[in-house]
Amino acid sequence: MADNEFDVIFIGGGPGGYAGAIRTAQLGLKTLLIDDRQGEDGKPAPGGTCLNVGCIPSKALLDSSKHFHHIQHDYTEHGISTSDVSIDVDKMLTRKRKVVKQLNSGLIQLFKANKIEFVNGRGKLFADRQVEVTPNDGDKYTATAKNVVLAAGSVPFSIPNVEVDNEHILDNVGALEIPEVPERFGVIGAGVIGLEMGSVWRRLGSEVVLLEAVDDFLPVLDRDMAKIAQREFKKQGLDIRMGCKVSGATVDDGKVRVSYTDGKDEHEEVFDKLLVAVGRRAASDGLVADDSGVTLTDRGQVEVDGHCRTKAEGVWAIGDLVRGPMLAHKASEEGIAVAETLAGQAGHINLDTVPWVIYTDPEIAWVGRNESELEDAGVEYRVGTFPFAATGRGLAMGNASGQVKIIADAETDQLLGCQIIGANASELIGEVVVTMEFHGAAEDLARIVHAHPTLSEAIHEAALAVDKRAIHKAN
Ligand code: FAD
Ligand code: AMP
Repeated sequence: MADNEFDVIFIGGGPGGYAGAIRTAQLGLKTLLIDDRQGEDGKPAPGGTCLNVGCIPSKALLDSSKHFHHIQHDYTEHGISTSDVSIDVDKMLTRKRKVVKQLNSGLIQLFKANKIEFVNGRGKLFADRQVEVTPNDGDKYTATAKNVVLAAGSVPFSIPNVEVDNEHILDNVGALEIPEVPERFGVIGAGVIGLEMGSVWRRLGSEVVLLEAVDDFLPVLDRDMAKIAQREFKKQGLDIRMGCKVSGATVDDGKVRVSYTDGKDEHEEVFDKLLVAVGRRAASDGLVADDSGVTLTDRGQVEVDGHCRTKAEGVWAIGDLVRGPMLAHKASEEGIAVAETLAGQAGHINLDTVPWVIYTDPEIAWVGRNESELEDAGVEYRVGTFPFAATGRGLAMGNASGQVKIIADAETDQLLGCQIIGANASELIGEVVVTMEFHGAAEDLARIVHAHPTLSEAIHEAALAVDKRAIHKAN
């Protein structure tokens, strides 16, 4: 094979592209991975949105701010007194950058160890799987492959009359680099990113206002669960205003003036920083030439079938660039599934059991279908819930808010969905995902021995409650 010929080329080195590339290399395929991202130091920064300006840095700040909040508010009941607690935002950001850098370097080591050819630069797909490669520090050339995997990820949605400058009006990139605690922090969009970043700055002392266009808070959850979450966030001082659609924002004398309507009246608010967190769109601009044979949907996503095949022979697309949840683990699993398919194996990902998590406090996690989706589909179901306040471990930890809700088929008892609001929901949901993958029933969860005292007992009890036989609550 000539130097510029490969078995597979991945364009985009986020969790989708890099995981796929590692897997094709493991399977003995000659692999080229192209990713354009650079760190502040101008060095390659593989890992995509997730590692650089998404999942990882946001969790680093969520963890730092959680420590700060707990020390101030939750330690006294444990008999621990603290005084003179302060936050050094610069240090917090340095720590976050260090975590990101460590993971960037780890990936580069993995590329070397797996003999992946990695180019820091841009890739563009032309006809017949020819890829124009433009290295960040070199001349353009063309590489070809038997298969090309598009993994360019996503970029933030913008809204009219709100121009992101990442100094006053921020997207996720700017929101992860705010140099000092803003007095008033505004957020457009009370979705996953808005709630997480709003929580960070609220815990550090900002007054936080979230303006959300739709009337229902977290419409993906059932209303009883959404209400619990909304109540918790209100207690923390997050000012979440539903049904408030932002129409514009201007920067004036270092402050951001935001206009919005609540459907009846026009309002204005002034913030020190404003985060625009109204969702993300596929990063398909300039990714494929007209003759590539790849088609886009009217939302700019690359069109794929259930196996991530595009309309062009030998061209695949994965992750945020295509339909389905915009989540890092979904992107990685699609990358791995495509890699295994290319090596002649049976790659597969089940989008019905992809778990979602919002890393607020309490955390919110869910998998499968909610009640209204089941009603729309005409499926009969039974529900079991169990509050963490009735678990010994939750009370002992001093963190017992929220509950587990399990939904099972009324006839077969097969698990259809689960929603958890509570401490460690991100870890707890795993058990339900596994059971659902094995087509398990609520009864299966109910019969599994759960360690005592743990938060996972709430899952056990919620599963028992489906059959009205929970032990530690009235059924
Ligand atoms: P990306 O991670 O976007 O990677 C694509 C890469 O390709 C990028 O580096 C991009 O620069 C590069 N690229 C694009 N075009 C080209 C080209 N033509 N040539 C070369 N390179 C190119 N998900 C979770 O599961 N859990 C979380 O906790 C979570 N938190 C998040 C927090 C924030 C603030 C944000 C913004 C997102 C978060 N996400 C989270 C979503 C997650 O980041 C994405 O779902 C995930 O990164 C998608 O992976 P991907 O590989 O499809 O694309
Ligand atoms: P997510 O997709 O989870 O990141 O959430 C984005 C949120 O932004 C959704 O709940 C949208 O309803 C909300 N949103 C979109 N446009 C606007 C707008 N102009 N004003 C306020 N909220 C908006």
